[in-house]
Amino acid sequence: MDIPRIFTIAESAHRIHNPFTPEKLTILGEALRLERGARVLDLGSGSGEMLCTWARDHGVTGTGIDMSRLFTEQAALRAEELGVAHHVRFIHGDAAGHVSEEKVDVAACVGATWIAGGVTGTIELLARSLGAGGIILIGEPYWRQLPPTEEVAKGCLAGAISDFLMLPELLGSFGRLGYDVVEMVLADQDGWDRYEAAKWLTMRRWLEANPDDEFAKEVRDRLTSEPGRYAAYTREYQGWGVFALMPR
Ligand code: SAH
Repeated sequence: MDIPRIFTIAESAHRIHNPFTPEKLTILGEALRLERGARVLDLGSGSGEMLCTWARDHGVTGTGIDMSRLFTEQAALRAEELGVAHHVRFIHGDAAGHVSEEKVDVAACVGATWIAGGVTGTIELLARSLGAGGIILIGEPYWRQLPPTEEVAKGCLAGAISDFLMLPELLGSFGRLGYDVVEMVLADQDGWDRYEAAKWLTMRRWLEANPDDEFAKEVRDRLTSEPGRYAAYTREYQGWGVFALMPR
């Protein structure tokens, strides 16, 4: 079981697999007023940076589940590096349908809401692990500017304009699901650059090390086209944020 190889290649050097910078992750951890010993569940935990740094900075404990073997291994190494390996654990597996045995204080899915078929399904899934007074975290794109055509949406690698909402509508949708939005931290274009542009050097180095790999042509094509595509579409049209929700 693993995720498509292109992600593992392009994001092998990323600690954060979304447009958040380390600073934004820190701001979010502080904004949530986390208490020592708070339990966190993270579905699609990637390389574990959120859990590991929050364990170091706020004394939280928790579990992350991710389908990428590489990212999960990197998460465990990061926990060792930050001295929090006894407080967080990382499981390689499919997070679809995953409900924690013990209720948690923070149930998160940051940039992987397809795990439960979209935002609504993911909130329903996370709610099953949430204890009283707990917070759900959803990391999700929104339209910073509405794409004028479906082609522009596809340029952002969205399937259609309807895949995402504008920020006020996204916030309103949480209310209609019965949740208060109690905090949010939004990415910015510099953060998008850190996420997207960092892939280019990783791909370039991978190509130099693996010229004869069967994947080399696909990686070469991406490295050639991605900077222009990203600058024309994603960087201009797509926003991204983490939204903290509490049931009403
Ligand atoms: N939350 C992390 C990773 C976001 S990228 C961060 O912010 O850095 C999306 C992650 O979802 C990737 O790590 C990918 O491996 C993982 N993923 C994709 N499908 C999954 C599934 N069905 N179950 C668990 N993880 C999944």
